[in-house]
Amino acid sequence: MPEGDTIWRTAETLRDGLEGKQVRVARPDRLKRLAGCTVTEVKPVGKHLVIRFDNGLAIHSHMRMNGAWHVYKRGERWRRPAWQVRALLETDDVVAVCFAAPVVDLIRDEVPKVGHLGPDILSDGWAVADVIERARSLGPTPIGELLLDQRVTAGIGNVYRCEALWMRRINPWKSAAEISDQELAALFEAARQAMRANLDGGPRRRFPGYGRGAVHGRGGRPCPRCGARIQVRAQGEQARLAYWCPACQP
Ligand SMILES: [Zn+2]
Repeated sequence: MPEGDTIWRTAETLRDGLEGKQVRVARPDRLKRLAGCTVTEVKPVGKHLVIRFDNGLAIHSHMRMNGAWHVYKRGERWRRPAWQVRALLETDDVVAVCFAAPVVDLIRDEVPKVGHLGPDILSDGWAVADVIERARSLGPTPIGELLLDQRVTAGIGNVYRCEALWMRRINPWKSAAEISDQELAALFEAARQAMRANLDGGPRRRFPGYGRGAVHGRGGRPCPRCGARIQVRAQGEQARLAYWCPACQP
C-alpha cells in the first residue's frame, strides 16, 4: 500500500512531467474540461494527491491499496494494463496515467476532500507540537490506531507505524493517554525521519541499521534486537495488521 513517502515521490515525478505544461488530451470524459489547461501545481497531502490546473479545477486522487500514477514518454510501453486506467493526461512530451486508483475526482475546492487531514508528516512546515495537540484532542486511543489517524498527521501508513513503534519500544495497544508528550513527540519524529530517509531512495524502503524493516511483514520471525518471535494481530476498525515484538514492546 502506498504510504506518504510513495505519494511524495509520485508527486515529484508528476511535477517534473506536468508542471507548467499544457494538457492536450484528458480522459475519461469527465476530465475532458482539463484539455487545453496548464498544470499549475502537484501537491501531496498525506496519501491524497491533488493536481491543480489554471482554470481553477483540480484532480483529487487517492491510491488506497493498488493505485499508482505513472509518467511515460509518448509512445513508451506502459507497465500496467490499459483496463486499469482511471485517468490519463497527455502533453506534447509525456503521458501521465493513473492506474487502479479508487478515487479520481474533478474538484474545484479541495477542502472537503483533504481539509480534515492533519499536517503532512513530510512537509517542511510540519510541527510536532501541533500534532501532539491534535492527538490529545481525540481522547484515549490505542497508540497503534492513533498513528494511522490521518486527522492527527497525514501520511503514516501501516509499515511506518509498525516500525516507529518498534524503534521506540511501544506496544501498539498501549493507550496514548499513558504516553507522555515527550515520548509521543519522539515516536512521531521517528516515523517522520524514517519516511524522509526514503524520499530519494530506490523502489524498496530501507531502514538504517535493519534493512527492509524490523517487524512489518515479519510475523513469527525473530526480532532483530532481542530474538523474540514477532507477533501479528489485526488492530482497529479497519483491521490493519499490527506487527510487534512482545519482548521489546511489552
Ligand atoms: Zn525484540
